[in-house]
Amino acid sequence: MEKSQIEKLIIIGSGPAGLTAAIYAARGSLNPVVISGREAGGQLMLTTDVDDFPGFPEGVQGPDLMDKMRKQAERFNTKFINEDVLSVDLKSRPFTIKSESRTLKSDSLIIATGASAMWLGLESEKRFIGKGVSSCAICDGFFFKDKNVVVVGGGDTAMREAQYLSKLCKSVTLVHRRDTLRAQSALVELVKSKPNVKFIWNTIIEEILGQDKVSGVKLKNTQNGQISTLEVDGAFIAIGHKPNTDFLKGQLPLDKKGYVVVKNETHTEVDGVFVAGDVSDYHYRQAVTAAGAGCKAAFDAEEYLENLK
Ligand code: NAP
Repeated sequence: MEKSQIEKLIIIGSGPAGLTAAIYAARGSLNPVVISGREAGGQLMLTTDVDDFPGFPEGVQGPDLMDKMRKQAERFNTKFINEDVLSVDLKSRPFTIKSESRTLKSDSLIIATGASAMWLGLESEKRFIGKGVSSCAICDGFFFKDKNVVVVGGGDTAMREAQYLSKLCKSVTLVHRRDTLRAQSALVELVKSKPNVKFIWNTIIEEILGQDKVSGVKLKNTQNGQISTLEVDGAFIAIGHKPNTDFLKGQLPLDKKGYVVVKNETHTEVDGVFVAGDVSDYHYRQAVTAAGAGCKAAFDAEEYLENLK
């Protein structure tokens, strides 16, 4: 194979981690190729007001922030491929990356594929996805204007979803399986201040009810087993995320939840393969920490490529 067909650096993923890595790598003359994924932009594409990303005193909309990051990467000649990666071969060098329509070779790799929303795993939930069941209030909230909805979960995502929906919907009921929320207190206070939001504690959803679309949920109290029905038009599942690492199985060590195991900072167990953002970080999970990790990964890839010479 001719050297010209081998990329110096391929970045998989186009959230804050992948795009920041691209900006730094492109400015470092690595001519990075970003395989952005079909759902380019990552989780911030599903977010409205981002008030904690530095540099935006008035806040910024998630999709606007991602658009700006992408344009910044493009300004320094980053090449984008708008496809999903299907598989990688990290056992021989250069590494092989197969996307939907092509096979690429690269001397180094940054994995920044992030994490996706998790579902409850109910048969009825699957049946009603797109017919009243959603994992994204920003994407689907509009369809529930002046209607009654339920949000499941007790973390920041659930609070954000409830806050967003409270602006659109007639009522929002937040159902949580315990009586303590793990969300940050500022968000909890904000949600609790909304007059059309109520909480149901120690409760799980047993079934999503309806014919062609959602008409309610069957609830079970985890303390006394009591079953009840709540009439709603929509159910928003906000119970956390799963790392997007299925394509790495057998190629890179993953932990039991599927997150990439990190050896040191952005280094993985495979020399030349680096990682950044939520795909390995289940603790901080912020746009700004993902961006910081993307910067570090680009530096580490650059250093690795220097040593290869
Ligand atoms: P999370 O913190 O892991 O919370 C998931 C919630 O869902 C928990 O309350 C959990 O209950 C509940 N849950 C999990 N599986 C469930 C099931 N099968 N049935 C019912 N409930 C279930 O996830 P997250 O809210 O997505 O947040 C993830 C990270 O992103 C956090 O670090 C968070 O700070 C960050 N984040 C930040 C913002 C922001 O605006 N700053 C917004 C979104 C996310 P238990 O509490 O009982 O475990």
